[in-house]
Amino acid sequence: MIEFKEVEKRYPNGFLALNHINLNIEQGEFVAIIGLSGAGKSTLLRCINKMHDISGGTLRVNTINVGQLKGREVRNLRRNIGMIFQSFNLVTRVSVLKNVLVSIVPNMPFWRKIFGVFTRKEKLQALMALDQVGILEKAYVRVDQLSGGQQQRVALARTLAQNPKIILADEPVASLDPVTAKQVMEDFKRINQELNMTILMNIHHVDLALAYATRVIGVRNGEIVFDGKVDEINEET
Ligand code: ADP
Ligand code: ADP
Repeated sequence: MIEFKEVEKRYPNGFLALNHINLNIEQGEFVAIIGLSGAGKSTLLRCINKMHDISGGTLRVNTINVGQLKGREVRNLRRNIGMIFQSFNLVTRVSVLKNVLVSIVPNMPFWRKIFGVFTRKEKLQALMALDQVGILEKAYVRVDQLSGGQQQRVALARTLAQNPKIILADEPVASLDPVTAKQVMEDFKRINQELNMTILMNIHHVDLALAYATRVIGVRNGEIVFDGKVDEINEET
């Protein structure tokens, strides 16, 4: 589903952030990418949805060569790939429901966003996504009245409502306390299992990676230094 072949990413300043990356990720895997700050984890994730362009090798998503995509094709790619950030990236002054709704309608005209004109079907879709992450009762609450964990769930619901094939999550629990972090990881695991959703997550908590992911990839200095199935890792110890 996601294939890296000798992928290289060099930033404009000359820094080589990814080097000889070879990876195959299948549909339904929950991959945790671990490594120290600066290892190249964010860069690796962001090449997949073309937030960054690779500078060497080939990167395919569902057999589509990401490097060759332009304009509308990039928007199509991104519609199929949900992105979750450490900082939630929500509009905090409006309701939970509205945050989810704006991701349901692709290329929504500006006036629809302003006036909040949505069909009943769109609302139902948004409410169902909120239900999947257990915060349906917060639908009409403003985002800035929610805890960090609840906000990350809203972000997850917003991504689910977009009906993606893949979810990329960049340190989604890094700013949450340990208990809340576990709850959010549970949500990711459930979505992985129930929807057979492919998830790639950058995470610096190794214990959480081993507890929730199905595969762990270690990155150091822009290279993959470890790649294994969690079941096998847990058996060996
Ligand atoms: P992270 O929290 O993943 O380590 P950073 O805080 O290092 O991310 O980076 C934040 C932003 O700054 C990113 O958009 C990244 O691309 C950019 N950035 C990071 N390092 C550099 C750098 N050396 N030169 C230019 N931009 C950078
Ligand atoms: P991680 O997510 O593992 O913390 P990143 O992928 O953010 O690592 O960054 C990997 C390396 O690339 C770091 O050394 C960072 O400083 C560098 N880097 C990130 N963004 C840029 C950029 N826009 N320009 C130059 N260097 C960058």
